[in-house]
Amino acid sequence: MTEPLYPLLALERLRMGSDGAGVTTLAASRGCPLRCCWCINRKLLEKAPAENVTAQELLDRVKIDALYFLATGGGVTFGGGESLLQAPFIRRFRELCPPEWKLCAETSLAVPRESVALVTDAVDEFIVDCKDMDAEIYRRYTGADAAQAQDNLRFLLDAVGPERVLVRVPRIPQFNTPEDQARSAERLRELGFTRLDLFDYVIK
Ligand code: SF4
Repeated sequence: MTEPLYPLLALERLRMGSDGAGVTTLAASRGCPLRCCWCINRKLLEKAPAENVTAQELLDRVKIDALYFLATGGGVTFGGGESLLQAPFIRRFRELCPPEWKLCAETSLAVPRESVALVTDAVDEFIVDCKDMDAEIYRRYTGADAAQAQDNLRFLLDAVGPERVLVRVPRIPQFNTPEDQARSAERLRELGFTRLDLFDYVIK
């Protein structure tokens, strides 16, 4: 089997309260199918090119914080770009890392269904940025059709249940209003999601 590689853009250690339980290390990856207007990832890319690492190589780098992960119930968060473009890598990392580590994936779910299905039992928590549940706002902001991400939202909910999914519902300057944001939250609750995080995008 070919060893999957992770296009590692940056590692951020000792994070708390921003992406997953406990102390986490964020492994940001390159590549995303969306073109969000306020994307900060593109700015990051201009400063630092990605390097391709194997699961063992990433494990060797992040295990320096293993004691913090174990003491706080934390672990590794795979972030974007779009982390689920790296689904085979995440599965491989799960096989290699200590079973007590919590793995978290930040995703828009704008990926093929197979990529989501591949990691439902490898990832402990999914943090989904839904952008906006209105198809027209979504298309204007991301340049993409909303159907794929919204189909995957329903699939993920069926596959892992509401406890393992945090849906982030942003107020996006110049693209949606607080009322749009509230409507998105309402639609998500109707679908069965219980963990929602309503917040404002801060443009830097
Ligand atoms: S989903 Fe995230 S990484 Fe992808 S374009 Fe949007 S903001 Fe950037």
